[in-house]
Amino acid sequence: MIDATGSVKKQVTCESCSHQYEYEMTRTAIGSYSGFALTRQKADEEAAADAAQKLKTMLEIECDVVPCPKCGALTRQMKAAKAAVVPACFGGLALGGLIVGGVYLFGWWSGRWFIIFGLMGAGLILLSGSVLLVSFWGFITGSGKSK
Ligand SMILES: [Zn+2]
Repeated sequence: MIDATGSVKKQVTCESCSHQYEYEMTRTAIGSYSGFALTRQKADEEAAADAAQKLKTMLEIECDVVPCPKCGALTRQMKAAKAAVVPACFGGLALGGLIVGGVYLFGWWSGRWFIIFGLMGAGLILLSGSVLLVSFWGFITGSGKSK
């Protein structure tokens, strides 16, 4: 797997006060190649091309949640991006729970413990939980300012 990082300047026109501003958005894409390649180098090239393609799409269609510096409003796309974080985190929590539960059940049943998967599941729960906490914290502390 190969990753590619890039950034782009995003031009935003505020939907509530028409103020124009810009911000820099950075993304990292991970590329992989699972097909047949004669050499390791060839496979790396394919993975790098995959990463570059994914990165290009991410930079084009995604956005960061950057409120208007003048009135603090978010564009519709930013609101949607912000709203999508919470379900994604709950999905991560559920998946993490499922993995940990599966590892536990399988370990209990067969006596073989896939500790590494258990750790991955626990990591997923930890990550989703902390992102969820941070976004809720922003919601609580930011709710008084935004209108
Ligand atoms: Zn504005």
